[in-house]
Amino acid sequence: MIANPISPTIPLDAQGVHHGFLKLPYSRDDSAWGAVMIPITVIANGDGPTALLTGANHGDEYEGPIALQELAVSLTPDQIAGRVIILPMMNLPAFAAGARCSPIDGGNMNRSFPGRPDGTVTQKISHFIATQLVPQADIVLDFHSGGRTLDFLPFAAAHILDDKAQEAACMAAMQAFNAPFSVRMLEIDNVGMFDTEVENQGKVFVTTELGGAGTASPRTVGIARRGIRNLLIHAGIMAGQIDLQETVQLDMPDELCFVISQVAGLIEYLVEMGDTVAEDQPIARVWPANRTGAEPTVCCARRAGILTARHVPGLVKMGDFVGLVATRA
Ligand SMILES: [Zn+2]
Repeated sequence: MIANPISPTIPLDAQGVHHGFLKLPYSRDDSAWGAVMIPITVIANGDGPTALLTGANHGDEYEGPIALQELAVSLTPDQIAGRVIILPMMNLPAFAAGARCSPIDGGNMNRSFPGRPDGTVTQKISHFIATQLVPQADIVLDFHSGGRTLDFLPFAAAHILDDKAQEAACMAAMQAFNAPFSVRMLEIDNVGMFDTEVENQGKVFVTTELGGAGTASPRTVGIARRGIRNLLIHAGIMAGQIDLQETVQLDMPDELCFVISQVAGLIEYLVEMGDTVAEDQPIARVWPANRTGAEPTVCCARRAGILTARHVPGLVKMGDFVGLVATRA
């Protein structure tokens, strides 16, 4: 078996607080013997479960990196029993470029699992995380948001799984995270996702979509911060009371939740995110971007529900995602 070339600069199993890097040798024009340095913090105290907390799986999603950076400088060993492994920018090359995918190899990390030890940079990072970090974890939280081309109602999500005991454990962890919306999600295209890899290893997994539009807000970062604390308490790693606020339960039962644009142009939304829509109700219309005197093309909801995500910014291409209509559970 080929060994993964990544080496941590800190011990992953030592007590106390260690800040360092996952060092991946990457020889290139501007640095012959250079390396990609992925920041990692490990905080450990005695016996207890291990949580793996990850951000910037996609490099243009910011609530995770912000909340995890704050956690890495503020969490102390005496606050925990067990271990917290923090990777605020797991796809560092993409994060550094402010892009969804890695500029080095075009890799979408969330389609690159379980990765390859002899693959591209993105595949090597994915492989290290899948084979060296996930097996050590009892619970995994992976932060996402909409990035530069999507915006979401802030939700935590867990997947519908074949193993119903595992599904129940994931749903309980999602409820503990306690975002304003909680989504029971059927993943239509799950091959290569970090989610799928973690779930296949039998772990408890929670993901989020906390906002988007290529930035983060005080509200969405606050949801991330409170969710981390709640999840660590739920996992038995932190002491304290889970801070439970009202959450709306949503389902994404099938592909009819998704609305795609069949034309390119200037998009005008007709409803706000969070609005209730009926089946066949127009949710947006797309005006021509290159002529006057032509009617817009209407994009309709394919099922009744709540507009849970939308496209940003103002122009759409043919085939772009327009809306996610989730149903009240
Ligand atoms: Zn993402």
